[in-house]
Amino acid sequence: MRVVVCIKQVPDTTEVKINPETNTLMREGVQSIVNPFDEFAIEEGIRIKEAHGGETIALTMGPPQAEEVLKTALAMGCDKAYLISDRAFAGSDTLATALTISAAIKKIEEKDGPVDIVICGKQAIDGDTGQVGPGIAVRLNLPPLTYVSKVREINPEQKYIIVERLMERGKEVVKSTLPALLTVVKDINTPRYPSLFEIKKASKKPMIKLTFNDLGLREDQTGLKGSPTWVNKIFSPDLKSVSGEIFQGEPEECVKKLTEKLLEITKGVSL
Ligand SMILES: Cc1cc2nc3c(=O)[nH]c(=O)nc-3n(C[C@H](O)[C@H](O)[C@H](O)COP(=O)(O)OP(=O)(O)OC[C@H]3O[C@@H](n4cnc5c(N)ncnc54)[C@H](O)[C@@H]3O)c2cc1C
Repeated sequence: MRVVVCIKQVPDTTEVKINPETNTLMREGVQSIVNPFDEFAIEEGIRIKEAHGGETIALTMGPPQAEEVLKTALAMGCDKAYLISDRAFAGSDTLATALTISAAIKKIEEKDGPVDIVICGKQAIDGDTGQVGPGIAVRLNLPPLTYVSKVREINPEQKYIIVERLMERGKEVVKSTLPALLTVVKDINTPRYPSLFEIKKASKKPMIKLTFNDLGLREDQTGLKGSPTWVNKIFSPDLKSVSGEIFQGEPEECVKKLTEKLLEITKGVSL
């Protein structure tokens, strides 16, 4: 089995501040960490390798310092790491990020052999969209198994996987063909702490860099040029405490009052 785990370096959000003038995140001097959901992805990727053999590859796209999260993944037990880094990728939105990561996974397949499972976290705690995992799945033509809370069974010979998906009300059991892409939630496992021995061993494991020229993408497909969306404004909404209002009477009358109230509140709000 060959498993690729996608991990993102994120600012420790408890410390992040927003620049009031530019509306951008102030990352200077802020400690970076492995996106918490991706720690569960790494752990699951390693467990799959331990149960079925093969290798677990960690992958991140980011600036050169994103290498730090790959070191953590290697110390936890991943066998190899890929850093996708190039100025051409700066400013990528989720569409361009998913496309770039998919191209990198194709490159990994060319170099190392077919990938059976791609694992992502449920979402990143900074961008928070949860779009990148399914975006990669679509571009690699893989079934996307989202919100996975348990891997029940993997059959590498018959090429299928059975997982539990965490739904709002209960769980859904899904059987899918392999290869597949999983996005995982925190219920799936308890990530291990790397031992001192594993941390030392990690420094000898391969760390491969992929740049724009390696991926066969066009300039207008990635970075700012390949990103059709942009951040217009970031702000913390004013938390006003509003007292609730209970409408009493016949349902039709209450609906009429509620509609009038809503129209009054939303007057002048452009959507
Ligand atoms: C409209 C818009 C404009 C943006 N503009 C910029 C910008 O100008 N500059 C900028 O730096 N960022 C920008 N971003 C943020 C950047 O696009 C996202 O951080 C990135 O695409 C990942 O999306 P996300 O954080 O929502 O991750 P999610 O989709 O929530 O992440 C889900 C999972 O995907 C995987 N994943 C996500 N990102 C990576 C990664 N980089 N490497 C490996 N795995 C990953 C992880 O497994 C993660 O758990 C923008 C985002 C949006 C929505």
